[in-house]
Amino acid sequence: MAKTYKQLMEEARQVIPEAPVEEVKTRLDRGEQWTLLDVRERDEYREGHLEGALSLPRGFLEIRVEETVPEKHTPIIAYCAGGVRSLMAARTLKEMGYENVMSMTGGYTAWKHAGYTWVADRQFTPEQITRYARHFTLPEVGETGQAKLLDAKVLCIGAGGLGSPVALYLAAAGVGTIGIIDHDVVDLSNLQRQILHTNDRVGMPKVKSAQQTLNALNPDVRVIGFNERLSSENVMRIITDFDVIVNGCDNFPTRYLINDACVMAKKPLVDGSIFQFEGQATVFSPGHGPCYRCLFPEPPPPGAAPSCAEAGVLGVLPGLVGCVQAVEAMKLILGIGRPLIGRMLHFDTLSAEVRMLKLRRDPNCVVCSDHPKITELIDYEEFCGLHTAKAA
Ligand SMILES: [Zn+2]
Repeated sequence: MAKTYKQLMEEARQVIPEAPVEEVKTRLDRGEQWTLLDVRERDEYREGHLEGALSLPRGFLEIRVEETVPEKHTPIIAYCAGGVRSLMAARTLKEMGYENVMSMTGGYTAWKHAGYTWVADRQFTPEQITRYARHFTLPEVGETGQAKLLDAKVLCIGAGGLGSPVALYLAAAGVGTIGIIDHDVVDLSNLQRQILHTNDRVGMPKVKSAQQTLNALNPDVRVIGFNERLSSENVMRIITDFDVIVNGCDNFPTRYLINDACVMAKKPLVDGSIFQFEGQATVFSPGHGPCYRCLFPEPPPPGAAPSCAEAGVLGVLPGLVGCVQAVEAMKLILGIGRPLIGRMLHFDTLSAEVRMLKLRRDPNCVVCSDHPKITELIDYEEFCGLHTAKAA
């Protein structure tokens, strides 16, 4: 027999205890461990909710609750705007085996009227809600994670082969501030792999070209260009405002300089390098793993290592390595997963083999040990015999 709304409510009330907002407040203040479940729609939750409440809109309740609250004996207080949806939701939860479920009478409206504290998450624009929808669906990212990405500041060293995919993907993902340092102009020979730039921009400063591409991709992103050459004079000033540094510069002077600067400034450095058909990526995190000098204490003698221009590099390869760098930068910002600290991912494109190498910290490292020999930044140009530092 079909039941009326009134009958349904009465039935629910017989099995589900209801708690007025005053009681809920008292229980929470006492430190009782209740899981607060907000069953309103996402936009209602976004405008304001009880502190610590999990958002699980009524329409997704049955599908997602076991993911959100895995333990059936977890005590739950469900609430909605006025107390009706949450009563129905609580009944469903009970039927699903949740042992201790209450519904808050009067809902969020009554809570607010009582003058109790509530919190509002970051307010996303309708465009942002659509743009980052696939992030919002991931519990590990969600709106909180997206807010972290939008607040994050990542510096790309070089707008070349590695910097291109890094900056493009980070901008697409909504990393709010992207710094790019590069003193070069776009050259026709760059376009084989440096996908930030286009044919009509040959001769344009790479920083300007990068800005145009990234702004066109995502207007949420603020691009800060440094059209200058990285040196011991400017490196500390440039890296200081950034949370994560991504190295996309394939020459030894810059590699040593940026490593030392990041150790001294305690900034995580997402490192990548490419050579002909092979590439590798790792994360140097001061205090948590090795730095570049733990592996290679001193730069090679002048002329010992050929540059990209001399040795050649397969197009696409920097895309592979740069994408790993972009993923690692995002993991560091979001605080999820296991970063590539103390490990190096190595790709050989010809054999299609991928290896994971273990990297160890050198307790006597000249720069990151407890008693470092190097305490000042060094410009290695003259030692390496390089006069132009070009991005990979
Ligand atoms: Zn070290």
